Amino acid sequence: MTNQSLSNRDLSVLWHPCTQMKDHETFPIIPIKKGQGVWLEDYDGNRYLDAISSWWVNLFGHANPHIIAALKDQLDTLEHVIFAGFTHESAIKLAEKLVEIAPEGLDRCFYADNGSAAVEVALKMSFHYWRNRGQTRKTQFITLENSYHGETLGALAVGNVPLYKETYAPLLMDVITVPGPDCYNRETGESWAEYSTRRFALMEQTLQQHSECVCAVIIEPLVQCAGNMRMYDPVYLKLLRAACDKYQVHLIADEIAVGFGRTGTLFACEQAAIGPDFMCLSKGLTGGYLPLSAVLTSNQIYQAFYDDYQKLTAFLHSHSYTGNALACRAGLATLEIFRQHNVIENNKQLAGIMAKAAARFSGHPHVAEVRQKGMILAIELVKNKQTREPYPWQERRGIKVYQYALSKGVLLRPLGNVIYFMPPYIINEEELLVIADVAWDGIQCAVKD
Ligand code: PMP
Repeated sequence: MTNQSLSNRDLSVLWHPCTQMKDHETFPIIPIKKGQGVWLEDYDGNRYLDAISSWWVNLFGHANPHIIAALKDQLDTLEHVIFAGFTHESAIKLAEKLVEIAPEGLDRCFYADNGSAAVEVALKMSFHYWRNRGQTRKTQFITLENSYHGETLGALAVGNVPLYKETYAPLLMDVITVPGPDCYNRETGESWAEYSTRRFALMEQTLQQHSECVCAVIIEPLVQCAGNMRMYDPVYLKLLRAACDKYQVHLIADEIAVGFGRTGTLFACEQAAIGPDFMCLSKGLTGGYLPLSAVLTSNQIYQAFYDDYQKLTAFLHSHSYTGNALACRAGLATLEIFRQHNVIENNKQLAGIMAKAAARFSGHPHVAEVRQKGMILAIELVKNKQTREPYPWQERRGIKVYQYALSKGVLLRPLGNVIYFMPPYIINEEELLVIADVAWDGIQCAVKD
């Protein structure tokens, strides 16, 4: 088997996510034979440093021995069982641990099997909670400009990235979209906290006007990842928590991308010392091994569904693979690594090294901003540094960086014209320097002509 033979077979039968398949007439698809640590290897023996953690899921490297051992043990015992009417030890233990480590007030865990499904669950639960409480006018959701919450219709509706959303607009529920706190747009001399605070006025206004009809505000705490890794100050979350309480609206924190240490704390909400009413988790939850998601909520919300069957207040949402035993076990093994290896503390050092490695990018004539939260670092390419005029999207400059980096053995996958590093937490200094060097040269290539 070679790259070529597998790629031919792939392209004759498969349809890949988030891809214009015609691109593969010119960009080869890369068949991966194996992974080890931060490295992936293809069938021709080329190696790629996984600088984006395989779509932000992998925390502790490919072929992690601790997770593998746990999974083997689970596989010998129980692979899966229906999760209605039945339960199992791994699901119970994982829920206990999640409740223990989550922000205060999140005492209940509902499983689903991917991030979008978790968002759907949180939206439905919020709506259903108000309905069970007799507040039937609450049917709407507030979302932020430039947000992303997944691709299923409900999740897409509460997202705001036009590239993914516009085509399907006729199918989507109406939402209230509020201008966001994205600090890329702050004035010169204005601090992140000042800008995010100033922008909160628009959210407060919206809540004041619409709260009677609103179930929840949904947000990605601190980093709008799919929205080009745009970032904002924790003060926004603090203000939002207080306003949601004041106006009797739920707060849904989508920590699917930012949870599990990505922003420097275990959960991004911790940086604002707040607890949401619903917290959606996925991606890093299993260390990048198996699909699983969880929605954590409060016992107070849970109680609104708890009644005699005939009252028809139960949350009847289900997925066949809810609480999959292998996935839950991978989640447990992942949390064990967090506990045993002082990951959050070590990541501070890694984040510092990443910052140093990328320091020179700010001076690049086509870089408008280098921004970072913990283990996420983003570099915004622009056509004109002074005016911040972006490159026309049709020029696909980011793809040029992607291709260059692949040819040098680094997997970067820019979002439009934003190049970002979001590596597994087991990466070392030397590897971070390689990523930065390759990204620099890739940018040089991409901005030529
Ligand atoms: N929410 C956020 C913040 C995400 O980044 C993503 C995935 N990129 C999702 C939801 C959707 O998760 P999934 O791809 O597992 O459906």
